[in-house]
Amino acid sequence: MKKKIFSGMQPSGRLHIGNYLGALRNWVALLDSYDCIFCIVDYHAITIPYDPKEMQSRIIEAAMDYIACGLDPKRSSIFIQSEIPEHTELAWIFSSLTPMGMLERMTQYKEKSEQHKKNVNAGLFTYPVLQAADILLYKAKAVPVGEDQAQHIEFTREIARRFNHHYGAIFPEPETLLSDAARVLGLDGEHKMSKSRHNDIALTDSPEEVWQKLSTAKTDTQRMRRSDPGRPDMCNIFSYHGFFSSNEEIQHVKTECEKAGIGCFDCKKILAKNIDETLAPIQAKRTELENDQDAVWHVLHQGAESLRPTAQKTMEEVRSAMGLR
Ligand code: SF4
Repeated sequence: MKKKIFSGMQPSGRLHIGNYLGALRNWVALLDSYDCIFCIVDYHAITIPYDPKEMQSRIIEAAMDYIACGLDPKRSSIFIQSEIPEHTELAWIFSSLTPMGMLERMTQYKEKSEQHKKNVNAGLFTYPVLQAADILLYKAKAVPVGEDQAQHIEFTREIARRFNHHYGAIFPEPETLLSDAARVLGLDGEHKMSKSRHNDIALTDSPEEVWQKLSTAKTDTQRMRRSDPGRPDMCNIFSYHGFFSSNEEIQHVKTECEKAGIGCFDCKKILAKNIDETLAPIQAKRTELENDQDAVWHVLHQGAESLRPTAQKTMEEVRSAMGLR
């Protein structure tokens, strides 16, 4: 039996290279080694302001990106969170085991509440509880995540321990599978790449759009002129080279930048070419999927159907252990 893993992403519409490097590429690499469950977490997405009319298109866009990046529905279960209501039922139960202080310590809550000052709601606060329910509903043994989510997985482990202590051993304590590209900064070189911050390169961006965005992206802030030696290790563009360029190109850029032998324009041109080459096969697959969206919805519904019995069985065990029936 392969070890079960669970991971998910919010349906924020078209995904970007930060999603690809920080999560999707890693998920694809795990397909053969694990029993994989991948979720589009729409209940999490409603904790920040959104337009209901756009939610379904955001879901299908995310699903098409998942599959176009290589998530094979034949080797994994891909589904929409709200198609299995047991997620929210288990989250309610877990919330009764969660001290407020544990939630107050969550870094992501502090960041999100800062970012969405006008809508700091209870859902944003209890987000890690629903995330724990997402994972434990399927008794996943591991969760592939970026570094910024590691605190939530530790939270999940604590919730599993608390439940097992009070009501009997039902849940495993899932381990964290850290992605090797844990945190991808946006084009501003300051914040995590995010569509809402407009500092992203979308997986669907054309070569022209990629270049337009890269050409104004932040570089080494102390390199004011072409003749100034640069500091690649202080430059966000150089970190992107680490993801997209060959070892020879990386070495070339580093050496030449440090002695002002290459300008940022030429450096970005090399990067743009490599990003375009990475995105081309993803975009070709995506075009196929866009032309047959019914098949993508079918994949999502089938994913939910295949997981529903496991979710229902876990909830029967939970209710029984808690004296709820
Ligand atoms: S040459 Fe490249 S690595 Fe050096 S500062 Fe410019 S963009 Fe950054």
